[in-house]
Amino acid sequence: MRILPSRSRWAAALTAVALLATGFSAHAASGAEAGCPADGALICSDFEDQTGPVPSGDWQFTAPDCQGTGTAAVDTEVAHSGGRSLRVDGGTGYCNHAFVASTADLSSAGPVVYVRMWVRHTTALPTAHVTFVSLPDTSQDGRSLRVGGQNGALQWNREVDDATLPAQSPAGVALSRPLPTDSWQCLRFSIDTTAPGLVTWLGDELVPGLHADGDPTQDIDQQWLARTTPPRPTALRLGWESYGTGDDTLWFDDVTVGSAPVDC
Ligand code: CA
Repeated sequence: MRILPSRSRWAAALTAVALLATGFSAHAASGAEAGCPADGALICSDFEDQTGPVPSGDWQFTAPDCQGTGTAAVDTEVAHSGGRSLRVDGGTGYCNHAFVASTADLSSAGPVVYVRMWVRHTTALPTAHVTFVSLPDTSQDGRSLRVGGQNGALQWNREVDDATLPAQSPAGVALSRPLPTDSWQCLRFSIDTTAPGLVTWLGDELVPGLHADGDPTQDIDQQWLARTTPPRPTALRLGWESYGTGDDTLWFDDVTVGSAPVDC
């Protein structure tokens, strides 16, 4: 190993510090505050660019099918990053729909679509079926892939055939997880658009009951994999959809969608 004279060592050290500083500022300027993927994303939002309480610009209120008492607004009281997040006050009762949809067209994401969001809520997931993430899916003629809960735990639901992941048997539900209340949770999922495969992480845990791995397993993904048409999600909606009982207040922040895995 060559030993540098002390002056050169100083110069090398200063150069290294300068490079680190340059790299750091470039990283920060690219949106590292929101944890945006380094290689680009179709959605990467920390909601800090929202200027008022009404969602605007890249995010628009929508109540697909029908609207009840649910509302959605940009919130400045509770945030995972910065000073703003998206707040949804989800109402109970059939067809109580209230969402904020990204204007981004996700058709080009893939072949695996990676989604990450930070979500916080106040009320444990109910026994009845509810949805808080909805992805319109052209493989279902525009009906949705839905992330929500049933029997107190997280679940996927496919609108076109009402299939669930996991199956809603006690053994299946036990392999999912409740969504903890009153704390920010990192929820990530990957959707394969070439085969009916799904992977879901809550924090750093790959949730076994929310994993369709292509090999039909009773209580988990046997029902889900009965439909062999792969999904093609084209948009992202965050909000609340109740079909019976269940209300909740939720916040969403630091949301990304792209074609590469992303950290929490
Ligand atoms: Ca924020």
